[in-house]
Amino acid sequence: MTSRTGIIGGGAAGLFAACFLKKEGKVFTLLEKHAECGKKLLLTGHGRCNITNRKAPLELINGYHEASKFMKPAITSFSPDDAVEFITKELRVSLKEEENNRMFPVTDKASDIRDALVDYIGADNIRNNFEVVDIDYNDGTFKVTGKDGSKLSFDNVIIATGGKSFPQTGSDGRSYKLIEKLGHNVTPLYPALTGIPVAKEDKEFTSSLSGVSVYAGAGLYLDNRKKNKTEGNVLFTHDGLSGPAIIELARDIPEDVEEHDGWIELDFTPGRDDTEVDKELLEQIRVRPDARLVTIGADYVPQSVSQALGKRAGVTDITAGRVTREQRKEYLKELKHLHLTIDRQPKFETCYVTRGGADLNEINRKTFESKIVPGLYIIGEALDVDGISGGYNLQAAMSEAYIAVRNVMC
Ligand SMILES: Cc1cc2nc3c(=O)[nH]c(=O)nc-3n(C[C@H](O)[C@H](O)[C@H](O)COP(=O)(O)OP(=O)(O)OC[C@H]3O[C@@H](n4cnc5c(N)ncnc54)[C@H](O)[C@@H]3O)c2cc1C
Repeated sequence: MTSRTGIIGGGAAGLFAACFLKKEGKVFTLLEKHAECGKKLLLTGHGRCNITNRKAPLELINGYHEASKFMKPAITSFSPDDAVEFITKELRVSLKEEENNRMFPVTDKASDIRDALVDYIGADNIRNNFEVVDIDYNDGTFKVTGKDGSKLSFDNVIIATGGKSFPQTGSDGRSYKLIEKLGHNVTPLYPALTGIPVAKEDKEFTSSLSGVSVYAGAGLYLDNRKKNKTEGNVLFTHDGLSGPAIIELARDIPEDVEEHDGWIELDFTPGRDDTEVDKELLEQIRVRPDARLVTIGADYVPQSVSQALGKRAGVTDITAGRVTREQRKEYLKELKHLHLTIDRQPKFETCYVTRGGADLNEINRKTFESKIVPGLYIIGEALDVDGISGGYNLQAAMSEAYIAVRNVMC
């Protein structure tokens, strides 16, 4: 008898799983709750879709945080090179490589990838407007119930219902209950890859610099413990902080951060210790006694940032020749240890990915099959896997889809 596979969720993971099944001539149905598939895919890479990252697989897996080891079989079985080959040869979408190995469609249009996926799968294999509200497993058969009460039977089910970010795209977190009903645990969920709002008392500072981007070291602290650190561009916003160095820190901010002492520390001269920078400042103060201290500080950061740091240190108008030791130390503290209190956990509505999801201890990493229910696969952001920014999350979705489908076909 032909084995039938139901794929639940027509996002990146579900669409690629469907393509791989189609390529092998298998019988499957893709169920998507919205009237169209890939709504989130259309938003990726600011509408340009950073589809993968062409780093070597063993380097790439380091971008999946706690799930690095878990992701090794998937990423090495279907690598970024395999993804590029599939997308260019099978989907016939040409790709280009940009800075930091990030790959995009040559046309800069995410819709080219989404449309090619849907065309490849074929309309007959997709049921849009089908929201799965229940899944029952009995004696080797899955009974899937739609919102309108209709029922479908499958021998295998691939859950690809996504995480909780950008809920208007369809992945609103409600489908975790399908996973739990089948006996799986869902680990705590955190918004990841997003900006961090700062407390009221620090908002004036960040909003006065809104739009300014500076290279800095960034550390996330909770109750005096350093939880994570990054280095890269930091963007000041009306609400707080964003930019590549900041968004990677968001995944460590707990829901109850207000009950903790949580802050971001910025270091505008990363890699150099306080003594070294202080010595340099002293030397400049000696050589340029008539310059304002904040003008000397502009050797390290843009003038607007130095000015704002000077304001916090209370040295805005002081010329170098009149600066006291305490005032210099205050300015140095802002330059090397700028302390910005975290206001609250960022929102799922605006984060790019969800940290947390189906517990990896209950998933076979070589097949992505459930260790609890045979024939059940969970892939994509529904799993407790989140990657750094730069094409890692879509590559995860593709690799997981590939490895699950390979097992479905066995
Ligand atoms: C703004 C933005 C930009 C991003 N840019 C990039 C990027 O450039 N590169 C990158 O690698 N990653 C990027 N990401 C992350 C990436 O988009 C996701 O990791 C990826 O889309 C996850 O794929 P998925 O298939 O698991 O989930 P999703 O893409 O969220 O798809 C899940 C699908 O399941 C459907 N669904 C949910 N529940 C049900 C149900 N019960 N029944 C039927 N259907 C259901 C949803 O409607 C949805 O279509 C970005 C994310 C956002 C929000």
